[in-house]
Parts: sequence; C-alpha cells; structure tokens
Amino acid sequence: MISDNINKTREKIAQAASRCGRSPEDIKLVAVSKRFPASVIKEAFAGGQTLFGENYIQEVQQKRAEVPAGVHFHFIGHLQTNKAKIAAESCTMIETVDRLKLARVLGKHLEKLSTSMDILVQVNIGEDSNKSGVSVNDTEKLLLELKSIPQIRVCGLMTIPPIEPSPEDSRPHFRNLRLLADELSGKDLFADDKRIELSMGMSGDFHIAIEEGATIVRVGTAIFGNRPARK
Ligand SMILES: *Cc1c(COP(=O)(O)O)cnc(C)c1O
Repeated sequence: MISDNINKTREKIAQAASRCGRSPEDIKLVAVSKRFPASVIKEAFAGGQTLFGENYIQEVQQKRAEVPAGVHFHFIGHLQTNKAKIAAESCTMIETVDRLKLARVLGKHLEKLSTSMDILVQVNIGEDSNKSGVSVNDTEKLLLELKSIPQIRVCGLMTIPPIEPSPEDSRPHFRNLRLLADELSGKDLFADDKRIELSMGMSGDFHIAIEEGATIVRVGTAIFGNRPARK
C-alpha cells in the first residue's frame, strides 16, 4: 500500500513536471514519516524510497538506530541549538536553518565529526509571525553570514507557507520563494548557483509548487495516510 502511494505520488510529480517542461529527475521526493514508526520507513525503503523527512529530533535519533544505513533523513522541523549535535550525526540535510547561532553550533559539531553537511535556509515567505524562518528581507544577510562556516553547504531555500483554503492559493508563496532565489543567484551565496534547491510543497499542493520551481517536495499524508497523534 505504501509503495502504491509512493508510485502514485511519483506519477503526479512527473505529470506536474511535464506540464511545465521540467524533468521529473530534477525533483526529489522527501517522504515525511514523522510520528510513524520505523517499520513504516523500512516498508517504504523496501519499495525504493530512500529520502525521509522528520520534524522531531528525538524521533530521528530513535529511528536512525532501527533503519538501514541507506535511509537518509532530511530534518524539516524547528531545530533547537542544543539538538544540533544529534542532527549533525543523524541527518543528511537540515532544511530549516534560519539563524546564524544555530548554523555556528552545527558547524562546530560537524568540525568535530570531520564532516560537512548540506543545508537549506528556511524563509518565512508569508511573513507569518507564528512561523519560524528568516524574513525575506534578512535572507541575503543570513546567507552572507553563513559563508563564514566552512562545514555547511548552503544548497538553497525552504519554506512552509501559510495554510490557504485551496492549493492554488499557495501559488504566490511558492512563486515568491523562487523569485527570491532568482534575485540571490549569481552573488556567490549558494553552493551551486546553477542548481539552487527549492524545498516547497506538501501533500495538498506539491503539484503547484513544482509548476513554480520546487526541486524538493515534502509529502507525508498522501504516502503514509493520516498521522498518529504525538505520544
Ligand atoms: C508534516 C510536514 C510535511 C508533510 O505534510 P503533509 O501534508 O502530510 O504532506 C511537509 N513539510 C513539513 C515541514 C512538515 O512538517
């Protein structure tokens, strides 16, 4: 069942990509497994899914110990500075770096581990006071500051836009993130200006996000069903 849902999601990704002349291989699917047990990840992994999204660091730590080494975790939740060490040890990418302090602490732990890490900068695209993420106006400044931390590679931007009544209403938020990335490209702020990652779009609206340039979509419910309550 899970692998059927993954296949259906991949098909929808391919359809959205072809509608706008993009290649489906340009879009990574992060299967958001938060609140589901490790057994669910193992089942999806057996069906060929390798990238998973988690938003609670203790959960990543627990699941990391239970799943095969080929499973990669993207951290997509708010990361507390005192959890940066676990994140450095157990994740492939942190999508939610939104402040210099966190990046510095992350850099120190990565240095001790003699490694480096891909990250995204989370932007509060809807300027929603309840949401984390750096404001649009402060994004360039943060990107400049992050250049002083050699252990992190800034691969692009991520956003969680405000909840809208219909998927189409999310389009302007996705477009604004892409326009911001366009504006910041060519300024030596990203690891690779030819491929600035844009992580945007969830179960209800990833097709719209792809039309607006998403390179990473984060899909939970459409793959795993309704999430169990947090214990
Ligand atoms: C939970 C979550 C998702 C997945 O949401 P669905 O609507 O279940 O697809 C995507 N991104 C973030 C940051 C999340 O926390």
